[in-house]
Amino acid sequence: NQPLEVVDPEIAAVLEQELGRQRDYLEMIASENFVPVSVLQSQGSVLTNKYAEGYPGRRYYGGCEYVDIAESLAIERAKSLFGAEYANVQPHSGATANAAVLSAIATPGDTILGLELAHGGHLTHGMKLNFSGKLYNAVSYGVDPETFLVDMNVVREKALEHRPQVIIAGWSAYPRHLDFAAFRAIADEVGAKLWVDMAHFAGLVAAGLHPSPIPFADVVSTTVHKTLAGPRSGLILSRDMELAKKLNSNVFPGQQGGPLMHVIAAKATAFLLAAQPEFADRQARTLSGARILGERLVADDSRAAGVDVLTGGTDVHLVLADLRNSPIDGQQAEDALHEVGITVNRNSVPFDPRPPMVTSGLRIGTPALATRGFGDVEFTEVADVIAETLKPGADIAGLRARVKTLTDAFPLYPGLQQ
Ligand code: PLP
Repeated sequence: NQPLEVVDPEIAAVLEQELGRQRDYLEMIASENFVPVSVLQSQGSVLTNKYAEGYPGRRYYGGCEYVDIAESLAIERAKSLFGAEYANVQPHSGATANAAVLSAIATPGDTILGLELAHGGHLTHGMKLNFSGKLYNAVSYGVDPETFLVDMNVVREKALEHRPQVIIAGWSAYPRHLDFAAFRAIADEVGAKLWVDMAHFAGLVAAGLHPSPIPFADVVSTTVHKTLAGPRSGLILSRDMELAKKLNSNVFPGQQGGPLMHVIAAKATAFLLAAQPEFADRQARTLSGARILGERLVADDSRAAGVDVLTGGTDVHLVLADLRNSPIDGQQAEDALHEVGITVNRNSVPFDPRPPMVTSGLRIGTPALATRGFGDVEFTEVADVIAETLKPGADIAGLRARVKTLTDAFPLYPGLQQ
């Protein structure tokens, strides 16, 4: 039982280097966050040793008396946080949660209708190489070519045309709210189940800063690690207790074997924290930061350099920069921002003329920096650094120094050593 640096110095070095990277760069990948040390503690705990197939009180293994407490706490806290009747906290990830949801509410060969991947949808909503596109007849709705918004008339037309068994509302890259009531009405009209994947905006929902899909959807899935700021994992919620049994059996034994009890304990803590006023404050800073970013990226001189923002701004935690009129593409923009110390991901914009490995867009998110403590003043500075980086002839060294001032002022995981 020697420490990691003795047993495996190569991996110990990776951990240390990654901690340094997270500290020294401004993390603006919209799907990422920094978990609190309390969450890291459970994830690195002896709970990783425990097999607990089944559900609390109904396990296929002995010795589950303590992990049962952890899972029951996670379930009750998730239900109370989101106002749901049912929660399954076992999915290892968002993708396995989604696989379980689809297998519970659809039969292979059924038609599923979701947002097109190239317009901001997720792989698990029907991409042809994913289980969702292989097992189901996946059809899609896109955003409007003028407004880049989801047009509910188009969703309805597609639903009437294809008569799907499942309609999916949710996204990985879309900067506005979806109209859950309108999705519900369309699902009812065509006799489909409504599944909302709130992976990206769950933290905003928990804080009451984004409409909740829970009252409208038959089932809601989410990741726990994006705006919600918990351990990397998934969660399924519903109000429909008739679906509960089906959802449970489609997670285990349907999709998974033994649950990751160390992760489930960490989820319980994340849900506890997400119910606190500090969490709501952080989500408010997240939203405000994204709004500032959206505003400052479309200043006149940015527009002149060909930079724009899809839909003209944002209601959520991310901004989609539109580089279709810029001489620099998504790949070059991602690389330039990396050089100044800002991590983002390039992202296709809808109707993108450039190929998917290059793209004409950037997805820029504020959750991790809000967790780091950033408020409006810091987000204004970050927005200006990004805008200047995207212009021709940017002073990379000067911009890197401005990033360092910010990272120094907001130390990440002070005192933590890997
Ligand atoms: N659903 C949506 C909307 C997502 O954006 C993502 C992750 O990017 C997932 C599901 C999948 O989550 P995971 O990466 O944990 O499988």
